[in-house]
Amino acid sequence: MDLSDIQKAAGLRSPIRSQLFIDGRFVDAASGETLPTLNPHDNSPIVDVAMAGAADVDRAVAAAQRAFPAWSRMPAADRGRILLKIADLIEANTEELARLESLDTGHPLRDCRMLDVPRTAACYRYFGGMADKFQGETIPVEAGFLNYTLREPIGVVGQVVPWNFPLMFTSWKMAPALAAGNTIVMKPAEITPLTSLKIAELMAEAGMPAGVVNMVPGLGATAGQAIAEHPGLAKIAFTGSTATGKRIVQASAGNLKKVQLELGGKGPNIVFEDANLVAAVNGSAWAIFHNQGQACIAGSRLVLHERIADAFLAEFIPLARSIRLGNPLDAATEMGPLTSSQHQQRVLSYVDVAREQGGEVLAGGRAPADPALASGCYVEPTIVRAASWRDRVAQEEVFGPFVTVLTFKDDAEALQIANGTDYGLGAGLWTSNLQRAHRFARDIQAGMVWVNSYKRVNPGSPFGGTGLSGYGREMGFDAMREYTQVKSVWINVDARIAPHYAR
Ligand code: NAP
Ligand code: MG
Repeated sequence: MDLSDIQKAAGLRSPIRSQLFIDGRFVDAASGETLPTLNPHDNSPIVDVAMAGAADVDRAVAAAQRAFPAWSRMPAADRGRILLKIADLIEANTEELARLESLDTGHPLRDCRMLDVPRTAACYRYFGGMADKFQGETIPVEAGFLNYTLREPIGVVGQVVPWNFPLMFTSWKMAPALAAGNTIVMKPAEITPLTSLKIAELMAEAGMPAGVVNMVPGLGATAGQAIAEHPGLAKIAFTGSTATGKRIVQASAGNLKKVQLELGGKGPNIVFEDANLVAAVNGSAWAIFHNQGQACIAGSRLVLHERIADAFLAEFIPLARSIRLGNPLDAATEMGPLTSSQHQQRVLSYVDVAREQGGEVLAGGRAPADPALASGCYVEPTIVRAASWRDRVAQEEVFGPFVTVLTFKDDAEALQIANGTDYGLGAGLWTSNLQRAHRFARDIQAGMVWVNSYKRVNPGSPFGGTGLSGYGREMGFDAMREYTQVKSVWINVDARIAPHYAR
């Protein structure tokens, strides 16, 4: 199939963008090199995408540096208005963006329509409104002085994102950075660049000045590394694996750039004996199986009170087995393929890891038998009971539709299991006991805790982790703090200062 056939088959109306976006224009890589992006439903190529190298990152940084003075001094309300316009354009292009994201990543179309696209628009809208409301302070200091703070943008920032929510992550990273007056060089993941390039196109349409946002798809080891090392960037914000996060910290040391890290997780999802089981079963399935489990906040450790474990699993296992796998572009599909075959193999390898340590596979554990899905990156919803919370499948992030079941006797053991990894990102608990809910919310080591729910996100609510899950927060006022630096200004209004060196 040639590209126009692929576009037609996917229901796309506008051409798929496949060049770098630098200084307001779509351009080829300096080297002329490209990299194919694949459709994970059948591993067929979609389009060859320009592959940025260090020279392209240099060009993008130079463009962002040129754009910075005017963008940072633009009245905040005007910056906000452009972000609001972007939100409107995203909504107007919902179907197009949803289909493109589904094609490139394997997310079910219905999730893209209901979640990825609306959440992306909501994030630009929230920070569009925030732009002229985030302000400094006046500080009551000693007599005769006025002291106030300015919240200044950091400068040109690098942003590197993974493939699991490529569209949504453009907004989480770019919206607050732009609202605060920074300019941007962003590298999407090499396997999912298409919606990021579409967003760049919509930004230009919304009136974003050239050079404010530059999009440089390419390899992590080259383009990503060049961003992390670049002396012209004042900050790098990264979402991805803990291993790469550590590499970014090292690469950032050259010019001591500010670093913000959103890394992996191994979310505990605890079901107490007093929980509403119907809600907990449904919510726990959503916690792990949404987006094929490819979520840093996934509830990947299902921690059940031993008295309700059998009753819970009697409902949970058939529900998992009933999830409709299929072509993500089919609106009835509830679970699509994983985003790459390499990742599919990695997820499946954890079934052996589980068995080697005495784990029991309660559901799934393989690629589906359906011949229509045989050439894609599919994995059945998989439930594994681990022998111990110290086992690898209860400690390591699998990042797929793979949940590890553990049981506990009492609250103390539940907390020990919940806090028994080096991660600390999302956590959930299901209980009708108010005291227990608040006690666990206080005692769990995590950046986000959901009670009688799981995986809620909102542009106003801070998102991020502790420990090996990284540092810094996206969303809300915290994101604006991350993308600004404080300047303290002292004015001598009428202070009479006795001379230090009276002569
Ligand atoms: P990854 O390998 O760390 O890749 C993430 C991004 O970093 C990609 O764009 C990648 O480029 C780039 N990269 C790779 N090596 C680099 C280097 N040396 N310097 C600079 N950039 C480099 O992670 P992934 O496997 O794609 O994504 C899954 C991980 O992300 C999971 O661990 C998940 O938990 C985490 N995640 C965290 C959050 C959060 O908010 N905490 C959210 C979502 C995902 P390539 O595309 O070329 O690999
Ligand atoms: Mg792809």
